Amino acid sequence: MFANRRFRQDDLIGEISGQLIHDADYGSDYCFELDRGRLIEPVSPFRFINHSCDSNCEFDYSDSVVANRETRIFLFAARSINVNDQLTIDYNWAAESAIPCLCGAPTCRGWIVASDELGKMRERTDRRSQPPLQMPEVKIQ
Ligand SMILES: [Zn+2]
Repeated sequence: MFANRRFRQDDLIGEISGQLIHDADYGSDYCFELDRGRLIEPVSPFRFINHSCDSNCEFDYSDSVVANRETRIFLFAARSINVNDQLTIDYNWAAESAIPCLCGAPTCRGWIVASDELGKMRERTDRRSQPPLQMPEVKIQ
């Protein structure tokens, strides 16, 4: 997702719509966790917003009284965003869901994982840090 116009910090970028799910065991590649056991499975375009360890957007939600106490989720600019900048959020995943991060930010954590889960990631990688298996040499004739 790329910006088609400039945004200043705290500007509203859009409303994230999708299916609200109340299920602590639910998971998908695209859902956002709002709080414990409450998630949204967003529809396009916000469904496809990428992660960055130095994200320029953040989402916020409110149980609005105006709209029948419906939960509404909004995406805001976390800082100034220029035309053609990629819009990103911090996925803040738990250590058990983490995958390597290739966001390229100078502050990249190396994993798509919440900053406060980084300690758990070190434990996870230490457990796996055994010497690599020696591959047998194959001679081609
Ligand atoms: Zn990263």
